[in-house]
Amino acid sequence: MAAKPRAAVPSAPPNSAHGAEPASVFATAAACMDTVVSLMVVGGSGDPELQACVDRALGWFTHVERICSRFDPDSEVMELCGTVGIPIEVSDLLFGALSLAQEIARLSQGAFDPTVGLTLERAGFNRNYRTGEPIHTMIDSDRRPTYHDVYLDETRQTVTLRRPMVLDLGAVAKGLAIDLAARELAGYAGFAVEAGGDLFVGGRNDQGAPWRIGIKHPLQPTTLIDTLDIRDLAVCTSATYERRVDAGPITHHLLDPRSGGSALGVASVTVIAPTAMLADALSTAAFVLGPEKGIALLDEAGVDGLIITPTLQRKATQHYARHQAIPATR
Ligand code: ADP
Ligand code: MG
Repeated sequence: MAAKPRAAVPSAPPNSAHGAEPASVFATAAACMDTVVSLMVVGGSGDPELQACVDRALGWFTHVERICSRFDPDSEVMELCGTVGIPIEVSDLLFGALSLAQEIARLSQGAFDPTVGLTLERAGFNRNYRTGEPIHTMIDSDRRPTYHDVYLDETRQTVTLRRPMVLDLGAVAKGLAIDLAARELAGYAGFAVEAGGDLFVGGRNDQGAPWRIGIKHPLQPTTLIDTLDIRDLAVCTSATYERRVDAGPITHHLLDPRSGGSALGVASVTVIAPTAMLADALSTAAFVLGPEKGIALLDEAGVDGLIITPTLQRKATQHYARHQAIPATR
């Protein structure tokens, strides 16, 4: 499977907000998490710490992947999956990712479910993108696990799996890495951390304006369906234009655990939220729930978002329009 194209792209607006000279921008990119991660920093020129901050920011992607990947038998999450019925103490990072995943699972009444790993593996989402090695998890069980089979003990920071399962943190890990990277760059006047179309932008861009974010049209990925002006927020998109397979009812990577097939009622969901981990998870959850329930979930969670249906109808949360750069597209 090819690396996922970018669903949203930060760019400078055409005109400077204050008519001032644009500030210098440091930009770099690296391949990680089966996608391209790019960073932009405004206001760092001449700072001897800049390169170290950028290196630490990029390092989080490797670190989160090492802990959260279900494609690596030595990852912390896969080691956890090897033990059933016993509380296992886990790292802060894994506990944080699992806690959010479980919360979104409860909020979405199981439309979002971090226990979907084995179903996805068996549908063909089973190759380590770095090595090309297929994974094959031996689990002999007649009932599919659900998030109810995962128990988190907050005081002891332990996780108990009540059944054999493969945990899949693919809907939260990228967002978590973006947030951790963003924290490293928070001291600069402006920055953007983008990974495969999911991003967090802080402060202002090189023109002194909010960051302008384009949302891709779900069916014509060279066209934008909307343009947003964003600062100090994350924007994450779930869409089906990538990561497709042909495995019966499973045609793409967003699974409806209730039917066991791919979720079909949505073409793309974009969520704007205070953290990328939340935006990442909620975009997946809303995708699976479908347009009406998906928008209700986003409103309930207090975030903004836009859902595009397969027939290109737009459904937006109550306050989505306040982020639009060009109100005419409302
Ligand atoms: P992408 O990773 O392409 O940006 P998403 O953020 O929407 O897309 O996350 C999709 C990933 O979420 C899948 O690749 C899989 O790892 C995981 N996933 C798929 N269906 C579900 C689900 N119903 N609940 C939780 N996670 C899911
Ligand atoms: Mg997501």
